[in-house]
Order: sequence, then structure tokens, then C-alpha cells
Amino acid sequence: MTTRLLVTGGAGFIGSHYVRTLLGPEGPGDVRVTVLDQLTYAGNLANLEEVSSHPRFSFVQGDICDAGTVERLMGAHDQVVHFAAESHVDRSIDGGAQFVRTNVLGTHTLVDAAHRAGVERFVHISTDEVYGSIDTGSWPETDPLRPNSPYSASKASSDLVALAYHRTHGLDVRVTRCSNNYGHHQFPEKLIPLFITHLMQGRKVPLYGDGGNVRDWLHIDDHVQGIELVRTRGRAGEVYNIGGGEELSNNDITRMLLDALGADWDSSVAYVEDRKGHDRRYSVDWTKIRTELGYTPRVRFAEGLAATVRWYREHRAWWEPLTARV
Ligand code: NAD
Repeated sequence: MTTRLLVTGGAGFIGSHYVRTLLGPEGPGDVRVTVLDQLTYAGNLANLEEVSSHPRFSFVQGDICDAGTVERLMGAHDQVVHFAAESHVDRSIDGGAQFVRTNVLGTHTLVDAAHRAGVERFVHISTDEVYGSIDTGSWPETDPLRPNSPYSASKASSDLVALAYHRTHGLDVRVTRCSNNYGHHQFPEKLIPLFITHLMQGRKVPLYGDGGNVRDWLHIDDHVQGIELVRTRGRAGEVYNIGGGEELSNNDITRMLLDALGADWDSSVAYVEDRKGHDRRYSVDWTKIRTELGYTPRVRFAEGLAATVRWYREHRAWWEPLTARV
């Protein structure tokens, strides 16, 4: 039987990759996908061009906070995968209101409508940033949430709202908390595409503080693999961390990108004042998804990064118009 899947935020970086994968040659074949996306500055229909005429694809431009639109769509879908969010930490530091509205109120609007429409499954895409910052070791899913930025606080709130609908109403909610994603089609405000596009334009890259902040990096192909395992084989009411197993500092990444693009440190790196409240290190423990669902990241960072650089080199027409929005 075909599953009618509602994908929110499907015109963004990760959501569009998820949709292209589901409807591509490796996809499950038994899903019909509707994307609900408001097309904010981060949403881009060009990301969905490849599937726009697919017989099992449709697109609705709309706001996840709009209860009428959401209610109408929920009634016609079996499952939801919820990506839509304000996703950039720096923007949340400049102003958090839109983050609370979209991430908290929007998620509430969706889970409430899903519950009332009797939707069978709701996968909520969250982030490792909800755990805060960790000096050593890694967070299992049972660790407390200690978010530090307005972005991560709004994501932590939305996780809890979604999980509350499982505990209170029995809605089948599954939450994923992934590490930093990278790959093609990422909006050029995030570290890797920002640095690639700056270097391609002969501009200096802005490196926060001492460059020693550490993140775990997850290729979008591996993230999509993890989401599909959770959607199809995970358990209701459970949280699953998804990691890439590749921890690197911003200095490490900068060095690799300079090498890939033939630039040198002194003439291409500008140290800038550190981000306010900048979390020093993130590290998720993804033992649960590995042992329970058989997840294994397949893309090694060095290879994934080289392919990403290649993609930005070959797709200038995709990113050049977007740099005006950064
Ligand atoms: P993105 O910013 O590229 O895309 C977000 C999408 O949501 C855009 O298409 C935008 O138009 C849409 N959107 C925003 N507000 C909306 C609204 N009110 N109604 C409908 N659509 C709306 O984000 P991304 O990087 O693809 O991230 C997707 C999800 O994954 C987010 O929930 C984010 O918090 C989470 N996440 C991302 C990363 C990462 O490294 N990119 C890491 C961890 C978690």
C-alpha cells in the first residue's frame, strides 16, 4: 500500500535531499510525497526541480503555523516527516522571535493537527544542539537538554512538545537528533558552503574566535539513511541520535577547504569576534540507532567534502543568486 507522506520544509537543504532520495531510483517506491514549505529565504524550489514532475510528488506553499492549511493537509496524509524550521544559529542571536514562532508554535500546530486527524506516524527532525555543549565524551539520548542559543532552545522546546503528544495522546512521534549536516544544496550561510563560496569568489573566510570549536559532521546521504530507518523501523515515543563519527574543529575544516580550493591561510582567513554563547563542542552518541536499527554512516568526511566542493564548483548558477540573501 502506498504511504501518503507529508514533508514539511522539503524545499530546504536536508528536506529536499530527503524528497529527492525517496522519489529517486533507490527510493522505496511505495510513497507519495507532498512538500509543505513556506519558501522563506532558505527555501528554494530549484532544490526540488529534479522531482517537480514526478507523478508521486506535489508541492504546497504554506506556513506550518497556519492551522487551516495544516489541518486540511493532515487529513489527506498517513505520515509526516517534519523538517521545517528556522535553522541558522547566528540569525537566532540577532532575533529569536521567528525561531520561537516557526519552531515551537509551528511544531505544535503540526502535532496537534496530526493527532486530531489520526495520522499514523510523525517523525520530528531535531538537532544535537539541544543537549548544549560537552567537553569530553558524547551525549546519549537520555541526557538532559541544556540548549544555549535561541535556536537550540526553540528546537528543544519543539522536541518536548512533539514528545508530549506521544505521552499524552498516544501519537506515534519519533524524534531524531543529528549532528552538523554537510553536502550539496546547502544554503551558503552555513560554515562549509559559506567558506567554499567565499573562497571561490576570492574573498576571505570569517573564522569565529580561535577556530577551536568542534562539531561532528554528518553527510546528508547518511542523515537521510538514518531518518528512513527511524521512519520505517523505529519505535513510537523514542529519540534517536544520528551522527557521522567525524569530529573536526573549525580550524581543521578551514585547512581542508583552503587546500581543496588552492588558497593559503594568511591571505584567505579573517579571524572574527566569536559568536555569542558559542558552544565549544558537540558530540552525539549514536549507539542506539546503530544497535537497534543497523545504522552505519557510509560517507567518509574527506570524500564527502571533496564531492561537496566539486558540486559548488559545478553549480555556480545555483548559489550565486543566494549569496545576496546571506
Ligand atoms: P533549511 O534552513 O535549509 O530549510 C528549512 C526549510 O523550512 C526551508 O525550505 C524553509 O522555507 C522552510 N520553512 C521555514 N519556516 C517555515 C514555515 N513557517 N512553514 C513552512 N516552511 C518553513 O534547514 P535544513 O538545514 O535543511 O534543516 C532541516 C531541519 O534539520 C531543521 O529542523 C533543522 O533544525 C534540522 N537540523 C539541521 C542541521 C544542519 O546541519 N543543517 C543539523 C541538525 C538539525
